[in-house]
Amino acid sequence: MNRRIERVIAQPEAPGMVGDGFRVYNYIPGDSIPQQRISPFLMLDFAAEIDFAPSGHQRGVGVHPHKGFETVTIAYKGSVAHNDSAGNSGVVNPGDVQWMTAGSGILHKEYHEEAYSKKGGPFEMVQLWVNLPKKDKLTAPHYQALTKDQMGRVSLADGEVDVIAGEFDGVKGPAETYTPVELYNARIRKGGRLSMTLPAEYNTAILVVNGSVVVNGRDAAAHSFVFFANEEGDIAITAAEDAVLLVLSGEPIDEPIAAYGPFVMNTHEELVESFREMNAGKFGVLE
Ligand code: MN
Repeated sequence: MNRRIERVIAQPEAPGMVGDGFRVYNYIPGDSIPQQRISPFLMLDFAAEIDFAPSGHQRGVGVHPHKGFETVTIAYKGSVAHNDSAGNSGVVNPGDVQWMTAGSGILHKEYHEEAYSKKGGPFEMVQLWVNLPKKDKLTAPHYQALTKDQMGRVSLADGEVDVIAGEFDGVKGPAETYTPVELYNARIRKGGRLSMTLPAEYNTAILVVNGSVVVNGRDAAAHSFVFFANEEGDIAITAAEDAVLLVLSGEPIDEPIAAYGPFVMNTHEELVESFREMNAGKFGVLE
């Protein structure tokens, strides 16, 4: 039996800009999916492929805070550099994933890596925000720099699956998560198939990053977002053309969400406290 599809959400009409480096389409949250219904995921911005001209200026987003959740940056094309108030810095290259746990609070900035900036060319990324359970919201900030060659790799007859988090077909992903999360990148050649079964209670969706697919009999065009009902059943995918998919599925965190911009806590009072902490310099300093 196939798992029922609740909605196929088309690519939003208008993108937004995050700083001057990320032209993003936002799928989560939104009118279509209530926040708790997609928990533990809080936000998904898709920087669909765009060509940036060569530039001496590194486009991106300047210093900003995060607290109470995790930011997951998934690079498909182009490279992003980052540095933060905990003294970490790095580059996320195509195939890599940066899994940052903002926890008790951090300042960072994200921008096109220098060599990519100078050369220009295609740029394609996803940034996914994953909530932290109440008991872990104040964990010390840290990040996991997961490189392409560290991903769990499952070969298909006509493609492959990179397991970032969780486990697919007996192969585990490298990401350590605070609550159960499955996150995969699948590449399927035209005519190829992929099937999977995920727990009914896990909130589950697939972003069609590239190409188009048929999922449980429904057409899913490029850049659409397939959102599943919470019920038992298989997900059976056939690639209508060469396709890249991001599969996300996670156990909901059944706790209140109080969110304001880059802070995601459980209560309004904790949000107020978060601003107080940031203004008092408790997230550190970053130029
Ligand atoms: Mn950020």
